[in-house]
Amino acid sequence: MSKFFKKFLITIIAIVLIYFIATPFIASKVDADYNTVKLKGPYQPSEKAMTLYNSLEFVSDSHSDVLLWNRDISEKHDYGHEDIPRMIEVNMALQAFTIVSKTPKNMNFEHNDDTTDNITTLMIGTGRPLSTWFSLKERALQQCKELYDFSNESEGKLWVITNQQELSSYIKERLSNKNQTAGFLGVEGMHILEGDLSNVQVMYDAGIRMMAPTHFFDNELGGSAHGMKKGGITPFGVEVIKRMEELDMIVDLAHASPALTTDIINMATRPLLVSHIGVKGTCDNIRNLSDEHIKGIAATGGLIGIAIFEQAVCGTDAKATAKAIKYTTDLVGVAHVAMGTDFDGAVETHFDVTGFPLIVDELLKLGFSDTEITAIMGGNIKNFMLKNLPKR
Ligand SMILES: [Zn+2]
Repeated sequence: MSKFFKKFLITIIAIVLIYFIATPFIASKVDADYNTVKLKGPYQPSEKAMTLYNSLEFVSDSHSDVLLWNRDISEKHDYGHEDIPRMIEVNMALQAFTIVSKTPKNMNFEHNDDTTDNITTLMIGTGRPLSTWFSLKERALQQCKELYDFSNESEGKLWVITNQQELSSYIKERLSNKNQTAGFLGVEGMHILEGDLSNVQVMYDAGIRMMAPTHFFDNELGGSAHGMKKGGITPFGVEVIKRMEELDMIVDLAHASPALTTDIINMATRPLLVSHIGVKGTCDNIRNLSDEHIKGIAATGGLIGIAIFEQAVCGTDAKATAKAIKYTTDLVGVAHVAMGTDFDGAVETHFDVTGFPLIVDELLKLGFSDTEITAIMGGNIKNFMLKNLPKR
């Protein structure tokens, strides 16, 4: 072995060693820095709210990006928004685990293009397989695999739900044992299809049951609320939505441009969902839903998940989220509203998952009945999924 080659080999080994030793530290630091809370627990809801909250059979949330960060969700953390122990502690029955694959540098609410990407660095920095460094599709498949790995190692504490039958069995089991929680897989931005219609089936086979056409930039399917053109649906987008409906997958309109939202409401033959959003009626910005879109989504039999971060509800506490919930229920009725937090979505949320009872407190103050609160806090998502997931 030449002297040069020996030196080269030692350098490579050193780099690889440093990479594997350093990544867990870098990953948890980045995770903690990006996923902060306005108010730290332990939280102090009123006794009345806590009593009602504890009586809820099914608490649910339609949006969490926790898989992105490579956090070990089997362990309880003192940073970030959730993990399995905290979910079980707060009686969370079903969480949507949504996959992020590409976000632009200098991400903003108004105008983003697709020429830059933060997630490549994150994939490298969190020690993900080489395949994920170069492919959006692989990033999605990797995050699916990670949720199943957590489930397989959870000793029954985490179910992954893919159909109505599984959800029914889980609901039955949970009646006698609350020491378990569940999730289903969603996607933010169908650029993970890499422009190939046949990848809808690939994602279905990987366990994904909900997908949002766009995220922070316009893509092959249509416009993002935060994109450059913010256009409507493309011919490829039409094909993908049709294919999703054939497979009984749920279309999520979060982050869609207003034009794309209108187009999909007009073509949908199945109920639509918006996994994490606010409404223009209490917080007017480019991303939030207009009254017309709220009514259009409700008319499909749809569900609107109200978020818990400032840009969505123009406030930094449970009260602001409750106000958006009230506005929406006043417009279309209680049956179309749910919680859609955006946990671990690189935002500062009002609270972490253990703060869920604070919403009940604010809903009580606004005059909602126990039955209505039961529906908003999870009953509606339960019914929606029991009806709209594939049968088996
Ligand atoms: Zn999002």
